[in-house]
Amino acid sequence: QLAPLQIPTRLLLGPGPSNAHPAVLQAMNTPPVGHLDPAFLALMDEIQTLLRYVWQTENSHTIAVSGTGTAAMEATIANSVEPGDVVLVGVMGYFGNRLVDMAGRYGADVRSISKPWGEVFSLDELRTAMATHRPAILALVHAETSTGARQPLEGVGDLCREFNCLLLVDTVTSLGGVPIFLDEWGVDLAYSCSQKGLGCPPGASPFTMSPRAAEKLQQRRHKVANWYLDMTLLSKYWGSDRIYHHTAPINLYYALREALRLIAEEGLENCWQRHQKNAEYLWQGLEDLELTLHVPREFRLPTLTTVRIPEGVDGKAISRQLLSEYNIEIGGGLGELAGKVWRVGLMGFNSRPESVDRLLEVLRQVLPK
Ligand code: PLP
Repeated sequence: QLAPLQIPTRLLLGPGPSNAHPAVLQAMNTPPVGHLDPAFLALMDEIQTLLRYVWQTENSHTIAVSGTGTAAMEATIANSVEPGDVVLVGVMGYFGNRLVDMAGRYGADVRSISKPWGEVFSLDELRTAMATHRPAILALVHAETSTGARQPLEGVGDLCREFNCLLLVDTVTSLGGVPIFLDEWGVDLAYSCSQKGLGCPPGASPFTMSPRAAEKLQQRRHKVANWYLDMTLLSKYWGSDRIYHHTAPINLYYALREALRLIAEEGLENCWQRHQKNAEYLWQGLEDLELTLHVPREFRLPTLTTVRIPEGVDGKAISRQLLSEYNIEIGGGLGELAGKVWRVGLMGFNSRPESVDRLLEVLRQVLPK
């Protein structure tokens, strides 16, 4: 016979998930109601309002997708790409490549531009690529979790309007932890996840469409090629019609609502500042240990730091030791950076000086002198 569930308590300082706030876990423990219960419908409205706040948008089409960040990524692509559309993807890491693959599966004529992993695109580089490819959609990753680089978005929305193109942005590792101003920046489509900056367990993922993107959806020649993620159907559940679409993961939505409420209580600005301050504290501590950070300070994400593994050090062995002996999770490198970096996340509830102190204390013990 199986023993009752026993999972070790870890300090999650990897690329996500982050540890959820205790109040979020408590909210998740609330007994479920039905997915059309008036109390639950009211909670969905609150989630929409709070998502608009954390994204700084007025988009009426703002919901949580029942699934992880990749499901929200898929919702974004499925609802915006029509077969034959030219989609230009800025690839500067692993998740840019996922966008390329996904857009192709929805029939897009995908073009990509790329940067070495750890670098970002300048506005001039984007302008040149837009003039060459004339895309219907430009897709960028705001926070590339595989490299720790933050793609600046100021001016990109204006550029897209000049070329009559929609701007699609991955905010999976930025929402809640890095300043984002969707409307001010002219972002038309964005998605995120619950398990990083929002400090909630994975499974309920934010997705939003601007009025421009909603208009394109309305005028489509083809039906959205994914029933579950079709916003024209989903919005009949999230909007005033309240038509059954799928059985929402009720308890996850309780958790998401509490996670968002905590951010609103703290204040979004304060939350961003906390992430920045604790990241700077971490960077200083890592540099004091004579470790090199992979991304230049100007483009470094506060939520995810890539640290170069020093010559002669077995990076995997260190990560394993951190997990097995100290219950600390950090990430390894992906793709081009596999074996070359560790990835340290400081997101949501984990963005605290105590997390940084604990990691640095342990690194001091395990790194070769
Ligand atoms: N996009 C980025 C930038 C990510 O970091 C991730 C996951 O880490 C995803 C998309 C996919 O999200 P998920 O793993 O929640 O499906």
